[in-house]
Amino acid sequence: MSESHDENVILQLRLMKIGSLEGGKMWFGLPERWIDNPRWRCHNDHVSRTYLKSDGLGYCACLKCCEPVFLTFPEDKDGPLRGADE
Ligand SMILES: [Zn+2]
Repeated sequence: MSESHDENVILQLRLMKIGSLEGGKMWFGLPERWIDNPRWRCHNDHVSRTYLKSDGLGYCACLKCCEPVFLTFPEDKDGPLRGADE
């Protein structure tokens, strides 16, 4: 597995932990309010309201760097992920 894949797994686990700590209503393991007001984060610290949906890539990709994106909290913005720090 590539280094990039590991970073994606770490990012996804951190986001799930942040979501579980919110303690609100959950839907498929993520807070409903995240799903209602979606932001997307990639492991290169880009956050966007939109993402590139490409059947060729097979995943939801960042508009800036084409890395996979994951649902993050509505207040998130570009830069290092804060919250649920190790
Ligand atoms: Zn990116």
